[in-house]
Formats: sequence, structure tokens, C-alpha cells
Amino acid sequence: MSEKPEIPGLPDDLQRNVFLTTLDAIYNWGRVKSMWPMAFGLACCAIEFMAMMASRFDLSRFGMEIIRASPRQADLMFVSGTVTKKMVPNIVRLYNQMAEPKYVLAVGACATSGGPFKEGYNVVSGIDKFIPVDVYVPGCPPTPEAILYGVMRIHDAVMKQSVKSVPWYRRDQRNEAVPVPVLGPDLYNPKDREALKRMLREAGADLG
Ligand code: SF4
Repeated sequence: MSEKPEIPGLPDDLQRNVFLTTLDAIYNWGRVKSMWPMAFGLACCAIEFMAMMASRFDLSRFGMEIIRASPRQADLMFVSGTVTKKMVPNIVRLYNQMAEPKYVLAVGACATSGGPFKEGYNVVSGIDKFIPVDVYVPGCPPTPEAILYGVMRIHDAVMKQSVKSVPWYRRDQRNEAVPVPVLGPDLYNPKDREALKRMLREAGADLG
């Protein structure tokens, strides 16, 4: 976590002077002011996301007005809408293609927990079952103000990171790609061999 330098006897406003602040604070301030969001509209929540992008709510105040269509150019994924089983492998693939540092904001009840379709045969109970989520915005749908509030909480999280401990600068902490779930009778993780064998046995396969 970045810490404000404390110089005894110096007034508060001077303590916050940019020349006296830490490297972390400058580095994180720069990242917060130039986040590159990737659009991911899946259902009705995406309409509120579009409203947040437009002139009235004005995301450009935060230096993030250009929405990227490519994960290679984005560092913040908005998952806004109902996450169906068919879409999950694509979302995970896109997440893996984003370069570090990267953040995920789950917009609305569906992306957070399945929402009104939670028990549906084709819907998952939240995107966080598959990729790490940094901030959840509740609501069905959440208002543009609520999504903006979520963006500001992402900014808070970024401001608390330190160059000394973030994994993307450390050789010993390389982030592994998230396994892409495979569509089948239900989604499964191809790296979970035991679960795979169990499924095949249940389906009547002879594994020897
Ligand atoms: S949370 Fe509500 S508004 Fe958002 S995608 Fe689900 S059903 Fe639609």
C-alpha cells in the first residue's frame, strides 16, 4: 500500500505536495488517470453502461472516454449483463488476453450473482466463479451513477497498490492464465482432471 510521507511539523497541504509524495502515489495517479476500459455489453445493464459513457455522466472526466474493442489495449473490463454459459469461455479468453495490470468490474446483479436468471439452465451465478473480480456494482440495472461509483472504487484499489509488491514486475509471481472453461453438459475446467474423470464416469465412459 502506498503511504503518504509524514514529515513532522509540515502542514497537511504541503505533505500532499506532489514533490513530497511517494513514487507509488505518482505511479498510481498516472494509472488512475489513464485507464483503458474494454466494453463488454451482454444484456440490459450495458444500456446503463452506455449512458455512463455519454455526455451527461461523462466518463471522460476520469480520462477514460475511449472504450477499447481489443483486450490487448485495455486494462479494465466491465462485465455488464447476464453471463450465459455460452459466453463464459469467451469472457475468460478475453480476460487472459488483457495485459497486466488489469481489473474487472462486475456491473449489475447478473454479472455479480446471476441476478433474476440465477436458477436458469444457461446462466452462471456470477462471473467471479471464473475470473477475479475487483469491484461489484449491485442493481438491476445499476444506475450510471452507481457504475461510476464502482469505477471510483477501482481507482481507490489502484491507488493502494505499490510498485514494490505488484505481481507484474516480479519474476517469481508471474500470473498464470485462467483456465478457459469448456462447454459441455456443464462448464468444466480442463485442468481439473479429477472432475473431468468424474464427469466421464457419470456419463458411462470406461476409463480403465
Ligand atoms: S442485472 Fe437486471 S438489468 Fe442487468 S442484465 Fe441482469 S436483468 Fe438486465
